[in-house]
Amino acid sequence: MTDTTGLPHWLDGKRWDGDGTRTSPVFNPATGAVTAEVHLASAADVDTIVASSRAAFTEWRRASLTTRVNVLFAFRELMHAHREDIARIITAQHGKVFSDALGEVGRGLEVVEFACGIPHQLKGGHSEQVSTDVDVHSVRQPVGVMAGITPFNFPAMVPLWMFPVAIACGNAFILKPSERDPGASLLMAELWAEAGLPDGVFNIVQGDKEAVDALLTHPGVDGVSFVGSTPIARYVYETGAQAGKRVQALGGAKNHMIVLPDADLDAAADAAVSAGYGSAGERCMAISVLVAVEPVADALIDKIRTRIADLTITDGMTPGADMGPLVTAMHRDRVAGYVQRGVDEGATLLVDGRDVTVSADGREGGFFLGPCLFDHVTTAMDIYRDEIFGPVLSVVRATSYDDAVRLVNENAYGNGVALFTRDGGAARRFEFEIEAGMVGINVPIPVPMAYYSFGGWNDSLFGDTHVHGPEGVHFYTRGKVVTTRWADPVTRGPDLGFPTHT
Ligand code: NAD
Repeated sequence: MTDTTGLPHWLDGKRWDGDGTRTSPVFNPATGAVTAEVHLASAADVDTIVASSRAAFTEWRRASLTTRVNVLFAFRELMHAHREDIARIITAQHGKVFSDALGEVGRGLEVVEFACGIPHQLKGGHSEQVSTDVDVHSVRQPVGVMAGITPFNFPAMVPLWMFPVAIACGNAFILKPSERDPGASLLMAELWAEAGLPDGVFNIVQGDKEAVDALLTHPGVDGVSFVGSTPIARYVYETGAQAGKRVQALGGAKNHMIVLPDADLDAAADAAVSAGYGSAGERCMAISVLVAVEPVADALIDKIRTRIADLTITDGMTPGADMGPLVTAMHRDRVAGYVQRGVDEGATLLVDGRDVTVSADGREGGFFLGPCLFDHVTTAMDIYRDEIFGPVLSVVRATSYDDAVRLVNENAYGNGVALFTRDGGAARRFEFEIEAGMVGINVPIPVPMAYYSFGGWNDSLFGDTHVHGPEGVHFYTRGKVVTTRWADPVTRGPDLGFPTHT
């Protein structure tokens, strides 16, 4: 299986170096060592890959539903058998702890399982006899060549939000993974080939902005799914739409967790720590703002501090690790810079993770940053407004439920949000009036199951469809309505041998 020292593109069922000469280093974040060089595609490389995908699409769109589903089931089995191999690559290139990497593969697999049921999703409607001898039926057909551009933080799960559904619907798919941790996608490409997917239906172009720009403007690409930060999501949406493509672009987040005075504070503290610091806060559904509705703040903070003290920060492959390193030194330094900015802005830094040391052999150069906890954060501060994307949890003290809800609804993002309470009436009202795409009640990270769709509101989404589930099927298909008239043979005459009406 995949050796990760050189990470090329994937073309027509094989690794392909391309003609581009640029490469980018891939690190093991736990040691700081460069472990691979990923190829960065030129625009000419993108041309070659798109040509392969177009040719594959003309055949794949004709493949029967049974053929497609058989390939998907085989892919599902192979993914399941290799889930630990994929998770090991994720931990080695992203840094998250192994159990979390395994969880990511599991959530991605659920989308493959959803896609195995595609015949049900593609059933159309039929209206009989809308006029004399006239019927109408609707079908959904594949769009063509679809591209997916994905972020570093879920190198298997986010691509899996897209390509199983796109391919099941009959499209060809080009994945442009994050250049920071592209290894998992190459292993998944090998598994597609082993599952019997025809060459070219799934291609990978490795690269950075040059590859993305080439995909966004290429006449051979019909649609683009993007997941990443808000500024790039906005750019991808605008550029792709201007080139006449359908685009869904999921952006960044600043997820709030509101704790009402009646909440179970132990459950809330557990949730805040796992959702704030899990995967070192590098999750688009991470909780980064804890809104404590007074008088609970002091008691809640005490419980959170106790739990933080118990966290083990080390190499993600170490058994018992709770939190690994950040993805790169540059990102770790950016997050640490926000911690300093919070101090300078006047927030109270209760736990400072900047002095964390990981002394395990060879891990001294890893990109580690311990959990950081701020109190007395206000909405005027940069640490409140900006997406930090690291292990930094900010406590904002609110005076009432209304105060807390107003805070969330005035925030620029609208990805996930959670409420902790024992009051069903409060929870019901919250569901109704909160402005976010994914809502958790006593659930800190409310990631929808594969048969629902995942996506946020406001600056967390550009476009109008969420990913996977029914909205994913909608995005990767076009509707067609067919109106037919077939005259009754009896009214046409006796020549076909039908008995005459009596
Ligand atoms: P990013 O925006 O830097 O990169 C995402 C993709 O865009 C990568 O493939 C990258 O190569 C490409 N890219 C980067 N800069 C580009 C440019 N100037 N022009 C064209 N393409 C460019 O995001 P990231 O740092 O890899 O991932 C973290 C971000 O993704 C966070 O903001 C996080 O909230 C977000 N995210 C959102 C969701 C969601 O569902 N909304 C899920 C996961 C991650």
